[in-house]
Amino acid sequence: MIRPVLLPDGRAVPVLGQGTWHMGERREAARAEADALRLGIDLGMTLIDTAEMYGEGGAEQVVGAAIAGQRDRVFLVSKVYPHNATRTGIPAACARSLKRLGTDRIDLYLLHWRGSHPLAETVAGFEALRAEGRIGAWGVSNFDVDDLQELPPGVATDQVLYHPDARGIEFDLLPLCARSGLPVMAYSPVGQGGALLRSKALAQVAARHGVTPAQVAIAWGLRWPGVISIPKAVNPAHVRENAAAALVLDEADLAAIDAVHAPPRRKRALEML
Ligand code: NAP
Repeated sequence: MIRPVLLPDGRAVPVLGQGTWHMGERREAARAEADALRLGIDLGMTLIDTAEMYGEGGAEQVVGAAIAGQRDRVFLVSKVYPHNATRTGIPAACARSLKRLGTDRIDLYLLHWRGSHPLAETVAGFEALRAEGRIGAWGVSNFDVDDLQELPPGVATDQVLYHPDARGIEFDLLPLCARSGLPVMAYSPVGQGGALLRSKALAQVAARHGVTPAQVAIAWGLRWPGVISIPKAVNPAHVRENAAAALVLDEADLAAIDAVHAPPRRKRALEML
């Protein structure tokens, strides 16, 4: 069973979800991508994160195929481009996303990153969609502390880069969110499958627990109670691994990771991809 976490409105979501960046970019891969998402749903990773940006709508179509006939099992997160985040642009972008997703409701709709439109206008657009029932809640992504503090009440999450080689948010953003009861969605939790997974520290901790470095990376992010992790995987072996990643790391594990992937000692500007 994947542990749940409560959103500010009281809805429960699993702490482990599925990402979809780079899905929907190639027609010939779409079936395997939708199959991977369905496998993940069956294994309890029922939160799915997507965006109008991913594959320019292609990822939302893959998600739509994966959730067809089982919409109510899934908690759907999508994101609006900053250039669409105006009072009139938001409902139009949301309508396009809903069509591609094959549903009439996005559970959580995020501003993908801060652009040039006033936040008040974006939030007014989100609130209007919420009042109409087209979205369940709204949130942001790639917001650092000062951006978050400008927001009016009602934000449901901040989705940010977080893994052992990108842990600057532990200095200020994570403590702020913990104090305010705001869940944080950790993106790229396995470092996009790159150098992070060759870390000696992760390998050592993985060997102690009989798991893989990717599972250690995910479990490491989930040690904060309010963190939701959204690894993306198309390979079914990766999907199975990720769904079984909620192991508990002890002090010795965390110290071994800190020794190689040092925690922040001062404010770092928010890193983003
Ligand atoms: P990620 O989840 O850290 O890594 C995905 C890559 O790692 C894929 O190549 C995947 O391979 C591989 N992988 C997954 N599980 C693995 C495992 N157990 N062992 C070995 N390799 C594994 O990176 P991400 O896709 O950048 O981030 C996750 C999600 O966060 C995205 O998909 C997206 O939904 C969201 N995101 C949001 C933002 C934002 O600005 N808000 C930015 C980046 C990402 P296969 O696919 O071949 O299985």
